[in-house]
Amino acid sequence: MADRYLSFTATGPGRFLTRRLGLPQPADLVRWSPERPALDGGLRHVTAGPSGLDLAPVLARTGIGPAGGDRAGAVVLDATGVRDVEGLAEVHAALHPVVRSVAASGRVVVLGAPLDPADHHQAAAQQALEGFTRSLGKEIGRGRTVNLVRLTDASAAESTLRFLLSPRSAYVSGQVIEVGPPQEVGPPQETTAPVDWDRPLTGRTALITGAARGIGEAVAETLARDGARVVVLDVPQAGPDARRVADRLGGTALLLDITAADAAARIAEALPDGLDLLIHNAGITRDRRLVNMPAERWISVLEVNLASVLRTTDALLKAGTLRRGGSIVATASIAGLAGNAGQTNYGASKAGIVGLVRSLAPRALAEHGVTVNAVAPGFIETKMTAAIPLFIREAGRRMNSLAQGGLPVDVAETTAWLAHPASGAVNGQIVRVCGQSLLGA
Ligand code: NAD
Repeated sequence: MADRYLSFTATGPGRFLTRRLGLPQPADLVRWSPERPALDGGLRHVTAGPSGLDLAPVLARTGIGPAGGDRAGAVVLDATGVRDVEGLAEVHAALHPVVRSVAASGRVVVLGAPLDPADHHQAAAQQALEGFTRSLGKEIGRGRTVNLVRLTDASAAESTLRFLLSPRSAYVSGQVIEVGPPQEVGPPQETTAPVDWDRPLTGRTALITGAARGIGEAVAETLARDGARVVVLDVPQAGPDARRVADRLGGTALLLDITAADAAARIAEALPDGLDLLIHNAGITRDRRLVNMPAERWISVLEVNLASVLRTTDALLKAGTLRRGGSIVATASIAGLAGNAGQTNYGASKAGIVGLVRSLAPRALAEHGVTVNAVAPGFIETKMTAAIPLFIREAGRRMNSLAQGGLPVDVAETTAWLAHPASGAVNGQIVRVCGQSLLGA
């Protein structure tokens, strides 16, 4: 369902009228395309407090030149050395003069340090950066985004910085992302830096569940763009669509119900050479308030969205089908983080994904060399959200800092970053792709 309001506000009369009425002004977000691979305008690098990060060479490799004049495509604030309230004054001093210069659809990326459990002044100052980031995200407007990355090593965060400082992260705002120390996860990815940043997934095989349409289809497309061989998994009833997607991307279709007891065995059988990227995207809703919800609705949602994810993950890790250096990306939802009326089953299933990711991530990396993360989409324009009644749909679309719904490609780009061979230090993260939805946890 097209967002007609967004098209209307992009016209002269539409802009005039909606401004006069004080209605939301969604910006036309700049997304990645071969013609427009980078942000418009250069990069401004500012610092608050003393920094031990070797950031400049990593920023230089992002391909955005230094900002000249009074306009910048992005501002990176290194606040890793902020340890107290005085240090926070430097955050203000560094960003206050430059924030106005950030171009429409530009980026502010704040870099912070992990919270120090032995120093409550440092922890207070570093936690303050979260409230700062989320507040600036809500007020900055014009399609600009603000995110916080906690890190200890700049090179381990290169894939994350490249993602956030590019049009690929158009609908990711208000997020706090933790990047751990550099990871050596062994073959087939001998080093953490892939040779080719344009086709980082070359030689890798990705299985995407629920990829016949919607977000899954976009994920398959984006991973194929990045060089992966894709396996498009969907239910047999979606066979024609799954085959169409697979044919278009030079991949293969695998038709099975992910809730079947033998689903993992059939996946392993179809991939005798193994798998690098397991993208759990298939999901369903069966909405009803709890008082009206029959057990079948509860069970079917928990089965597709959570139980099958747990089962196939366990089986494919155990069988060694998922190769070292690989990634699992599961799909949560902001409904699982914030809760949503009529979705006790769905909210429970998606919160379950968060628990799975947080618990499994450190063990999967240590024992199997595989990272485990989740995307948590907000309102994304798909058939799933087109079915929502008009007024609720309109509220979902507008109630975020970017005043519009996201596109499937926004979730796909986030998945591609998490699945990137250089993202080995990004593990156990739940990244919302929600335009900083006002629905918060
Ligand atoms: P969609 O309904 O358009 O597509 C889901 C796909 O999954 C379909 O092709 C369907 O056939 C497949 N599928 C369903 N059950 C399956 C099963 N048992 N086995 C194999 N395949 C199965 O949905 P979408 O909007 O693209 O959502 C994709 C994922 O994103 C879901 O997990 C959903 O919960 C999540 N999500 C979506 C939104 C949104 O706004 N669209 C928001 C938050 C989370």
